[in-house]
Amino acid sequence: MSSDPIRITIDDAGAIEPRAERSASDSRADGVDDRFTRLRQIHWWKQETLSAARLVVVGAGALGNEIVKNLSLLGIGKIMIIDLDRIEMSNLARSVLFREDDIGKMKAETAALRAREIFPGSSAIGMTADVCGEVGAGIFRWADLIVGGLDNREARLHLNRMAWRFGKPFIDGAIEQLDGIARTFIPDPANQNACYECTLGERDWQLLAQRRSCALLSREQMQTGHTPTTPTVSSIIGAIEVQEAVKWLHGMPVSPAEAFVFRGLSLETDRVRYMRNPTCLAHETLSEIVELDGGSGDVTVSELLELAQDLLGEGAVIDVGRDLVTRFACACGKIDWVGRALSRVRVGEAMCDCGRVREATIVHQMERGSPYGDRRLAEMGVPRFDVVVARKEDRAIGLELAGDGSAVLGPLHDRGLTWA
Ligand SMILES: [Zn+2]
Ligand SMILES: [Zn+2]
Repeated sequence: MSSDPIRITIDDAGAIEPRAERSASDSRADGVDDRFTRLRQIHWWKQETLSAARLVVVGAGALGNEIVKNLSLLGIGKIMIIDLDRIEMSNLARSVLFREDDIGKMKAETAALRAREIFPGSSAIGMTADVCGEVGAGIFRWADLIVGGLDNREARLHLNRMAWRFGKPFIDGAIEQLDGIARTFIPDPANQNACYECTLGERDWQLLAQRRSCALLSREQMQTGHTPTTPTVSSIIGAIEVQEAVKWLHGMPVSPAEAFVFRGLSLETDRVRYMRNPTCLAHETLSEIVELDGGSGDVTVSELLELAQDLLGEGAVIDVGRDLVTRFACACGKIDWVGRALSRVRVGEAMCDCGRVREATIVHQMERGSPYGDRRLAEMGVPRFDVVVARKEDRAIGLELAGDGSAVLGPLHDRGLTWA
């Protein structure tokens, strides 16, 4: 890693409209890519735009399989696929990319492998990680577009916050039995558009609060919710999500905060428009990002606090954007360091050898004089390539651990070449 992890370059983050004319030299008649000849017959189609597009697909279950399949057929190959789970037998009836031999393998990596088989020009990679706790926010900054194939509100909330933070559209899908919904949320500079969080009603918040109230136990249970779904409806909704992505990438009209609702039994479709909630707290877009040379394994908490203070002045704090469990302490005196996101801490870990339940120290924000000054960010549980936020009053500056970029993005790391 770098000898001076805190050396920085300043970059204006204004990434609200990254699309379209990245590839002005879109050649329709190159004769090389016969694979896409029929697609190019659509008069506005730009294959080069699609092949340059950077997407994050979160969830490689029933919906994620359809999304990745469609993206690959279309020649969209710069995909980071994120999922936490392994392939089970029961996935096979709903997952076009998985085979019986794949049982026990990771969904994300397997889906990426199949993406590269479908489209040999693809550089899709998989990341096995919990999207809320273990995925560095730099991945969402890297992407042009975030596509969700998720089955829970918590992960949607997180993706939505990431989308707004970096000004990237978030295309969400949800399926249950024969019904499904697809919708696109687009952060806008004028801050008029509704976001996913704006759509949540009282009942949604109650459910979320119930799950959060008893943090450790509930988070464990959260992982086990299984929704009954069919490959047919995931095919329909996954296709709509990808088609909307293609439209957006081409600069075609895509309705922000409007849902396509499909009812499979009656074959009815509806469009539902969401209103922006003026009290919604999810609309923070970082107008300034500082790229650090270091990664989460290099930079210490005190180095980061010092930088925050240099940038924003005395009293600046560091917001790590998630709850981190730093340690367990027991009444018997035993103390263990944890350094992991709360979402990745198992309930059993809170038990002490002496039989008592230990108290967890949870950190979300750090300020000058923090007892963690000497700790490196990775020890605290901050993921590689994360973007932590320096705050003071109403000012916020993102600090990207850009030194991790090439390790995390691998073949997708194209900064310096096409970074617009
Ligand atoms: Zn909102
Ligand atoms: Zn104890």
